[in-house]
Amino acid sequence: MKIISIVVPVYNEQENIIHFYREICNVMKTTNYDFQLFFVNDGSSDASAELIRELEEKDTHVKGLFLARNFGHQVALTCGLDHANGDAVITMDGDMQHPPELIPLLLEKWEAGYEVVQTIRETTEGVSWLKKMTSSCYYKVLNNMANIHIQEGGSDFRLMDQVVVRSFRRYKEQARFIRGMIGAMGYKQTQIEFVAPKRFAGTSKFSPRKMLHFALDGITAYSNLPLRLSLYGGLLSGLISFLLVLHVLFIKIFTYDAVPGWATIAASILFLGGIQLTVLGIIGEYIGRIFAEVKQRPLYLLEREPENEIEK
Ligand code: UDP
Ligand code: MG
Repeated sequence: MKIISIVVPVYNEQENIIHFYREICNVMKTTNYDFQLFFVNDGSSDASAELIRELEEKDTHVKGLFLARNFGHQVALTCGLDHANGDAVITMDGDMQHPPELIPLLLEKWEAGYEVVQTIRETTEGVSWLKKMTSSCYYKVLNNMANIHIQEGGSDFRLMDQVVVRSFRRYKEQARFIRGMIGAMGYKQTQIEFVAPKRFAGTSKFSPRKMLHFALDGITAYSNLPLRLSLYGGLLSGLISFLLVLHVLFIKIFTYDAVPGWATIAASILFLGGIQLTVLGIIGEYIGRIFAEVKQRPLYLLEREPENEIEK
């Protein structure tokens, strides 16, 4: 019997874990597969860890991976993927926004020979107008900049064949934008669309800060365009100031007028100062990421190593 590993990152989801576990058991019963359910506890400060430990004791399908602190969603997913050794691996959120009822459909596609089955959120219920708009703008900007295509509405709810998971483990980058990484890996991929319901309980664990970091990771990982735009901006303002100098010289040499306008000078200094700081900031984003990469710190630390550990 083939084994399906399900990987679920969990950060303060005490109201969701049991419900999610039951739903997964119900769905997996209807399939012809055995399964392992990996809960990756991402340094929760509520009772999530205890709940996972209890489930682990009661049911051998459940395996807990406990990170030493909150490392973030993408790293928690990576930790799960490092340990999941089923014939296929499904990653999904533990808040029921990735409906377990879709699992049989993912498996069907896998049986049909696809090695990656990506899900695309058609809409998300109960999400604010602002979040929808910023997300849609973000994907438009990203796709115009990046050297890969990342579908709008792409989520981290996907099935991967073990072959793909093994290849994925060879990527050691620190700043992770997994949906971009998988998309760029190749293999036989397909997509299915779904409507993401509201969270079962609790609130989103993505603060605006985490969201912004994630968004910047996506852009800096797949595009140098911000740096190139800085260069073009610099060249353009250089050209404009050169024309201004010509204008000033012309007035000085060929007329008896003085060149008026301290306001123009103040404005242009402020304008250029603003551009310079922005460009420095952009360069800083890239350098910060280079710094994180060269340190080669471990991506995550586990509280304790699981017994079934296969690869590090
Ligand atoms: N999550 C995590 N670490 C974090 C933030 C979130 O493991 O630092 C988990 C969270 O428990 C959930 C999944 O990632 O299972 C998706 O998070 P959430 O539902 O808060 O994101 P949203 O659906 O609002 O984008
Ligand atoms: Mg969610």
